[in-house]
Amino acid sequence: MAAQRFDVVVVGTGPGGYVAAIRCAQLGLSVAAVEDDRPGGVCLNWGCIPTKALLRNAEIVGLFQRAEEFGVTVDKWTADYAQAVQRSRRVADRMAKGVEFLFRKNKITLVPGTGTLKARNVVEVKGKDGVQTFEAKAIILATGSEPRSLPGVTIDEKQVISSNGAVRIEATPASLIVIGAGAVGMEFADVYGAYGVPVTVLEALPRVLPIEDEEVSALLARVFSRRGMTIRTNVRVQKVSPGKAGLTVEIEAEGKAERLEAEQVLMAVGRASRTKGLGLEALGVASERGLVTVGPTMETSVKGIFAVGDMTGRQMLAHKAMAEGVVAAEAIAGRSPHPVDYDNVPSCTYCRPQVASIGLSEAKARTNGREIAVGRFPFTANGKAVALGETEGFLKVVADKRTGEILGVHIVGSEATEMIHEFAVGRTLEATLEEIIHTIHAHPTLSEAALEATLAALGQAIHI
Ligand code: NAD
Repeated sequence: MAAQRFDVVVVGTGPGGYVAAIRCAQLGLSVAAVEDDRPGGVCLNWGCIPTKALLRNAEIVGLFQRAEEFGVTVDKWTADYAQAVQRSRRVADRMAKGVEFLFRKNKITLVPGTGTLKARNVVEVKGKDGVQTFEAKAIILATGSEPRSLPGVTIDEKQVISSNGAVRIEATPASLIVIGAGAVGMEFADVYGAYGVPVTVLEALPRVLPIEDEEVSALLARVFSRRGMTIRTNVRVQKVSPGKAGLTVEIEAEGKAERLEAEQVLMAVGRASRTKGLGLEALGVASERGLVTVGPTMETSVKGIFAVGDMTGRQMLAHKAMAEGVVAAEAIAGRSPHPVDYDNVPSCTYCRPQVASIGLSEAKARTNGREIAVGRFPFTANGKAVALGETEGFLKVVADKRTGEILGVHIVGSEATEMIHEFAVGRTLEATLEEIIHTIHAHPTLSEAALEATLAALGQAIHI
């Protein structure tokens, strides 16, 4: 069959790919988008969105557990985890259908099947109905990433599960060991913990959420421990094998060997780019440790082939992928896109309390050799947080003492992931501490903590 011609072929329709496809279409380019699963990729179907639905259930269960604090007596209540998963699937389905709708609206041709690069401008797609060939002026690769495991440990999605399996399994295990205390590990520990599963979190590094500010990690570990979870850091996982309770996890901690038992293990040790079988090597598309190398316009080492999202590394985050998708599309359309500012990507973890940050941690800011000012404000002193009964956590601003430049912001607390954007915009506009304090923040809001922490950095906090 003759090749079908489009201006752009996008391979993969996760946040990087679908946003790139829509932006290309907006700019007048004809687009085919190839997908071997459902539109929306891991984020909409198996990652960000379904987990946020599960975390919302965990939050509601948490509120029921605290009902008496609010003077609410509930004689009998149950939390059915199967229904939480079913709700989460419905949420994911709705969002994936949303992407299909947007494709139709923007006249993007969705091609079900697996894409392989056959030449600089040719993609072959193997689908249920056979093989189709597409020719394009430009190709955008956006095939994402998949959960990594440890050497010798197979993820069977029954006993050893990844986040992909966890969002589908409707039963909770009798006990769970989470390996890795990054975003995936902490979010699922929260969900399973809320449903009464005894959870042990094992982290190789000295603290949970090791990419976050140290004070944030410390607070989160304290809160999770208080809630009954076992948090173990500086742990080396040696082996996972069948055991009495289901699985035995052999670890080394403080120089001693130990055996831990659990019915299930959740592997949350990071993700690897999904590039196998894509045909990158044959075309000479450069990559480093499995991550595709790209320039500022997301073009790879081969002219006309672009790559966006997790497969290019850096922060493996949906919002970073979307930003890259826009850059690639605009470059292909002949615009001069604003490059992605990788130093200003918010990092968000949606466990309770939520964690959000941007820029440098306090420790990293100090290593730069400049004098810094640090302001903190605890939510215990914030009226809205007290009224909500959500006083855990704080907001911390790290700034250059001399210029007032905001170097980093770290929030742990209710709605942290919403509040961080004040500082994302602030940093884009190169706002200083002075400009933040001259911005009136509505009272009472959680966001007042942003104002107060900024005032604290200037030695002027009012409410603490
Ligand atoms: P991650 O890289 O964020 O965290 C993995 C953790 O596992 C790290 O803390 C690491 O030190 C630890 N680890 C690695 N090997 C280990 C071992 N052998 N034993 C014990 N601990 C070990 O990865 P993740 O949490 O799996 O998430 C994958 C990707 O998806 C990340 O890039 C993450 O940012 C992204 N993600 C983001 C969100 C969010 O933004 N809320 C949610 C889920 C996933």
